[in-house]
Amino acid sequence: MSQSSWKDQIKKKWGPHSHCSICGKAMSTDKKFCSQACRDNYLNQERKQKKKGRLQCVFLIVMLVVMFAIMFLPGLF
Ligand SMILES: [Zn+2]
Repeated sequence: MSQSSWKDQIKKKWGPHSHCSICGKAMSTDKKFCSQACRDNYLNQERKQKKKGRLQCVFLIVMLVVMFAIMFLPGLF
């Protein structure tokens, strides 16, 4: 009986929890981040990634335009 109690104690102490996806700190499961700072951090990262994705899209379009220019205007190059 007493052997399983330490597990129960740990369960009671920590409860069901998840870890912050930014710093990995333990926290309650209903939260996505442990603190406002981590939340801001995540949002910043997401915004940066979106910006990067748009840049890649623009780059692709520019490449396409250049390809077409080379194909249809051979005298230009
Ligand atoms: Zn955190």
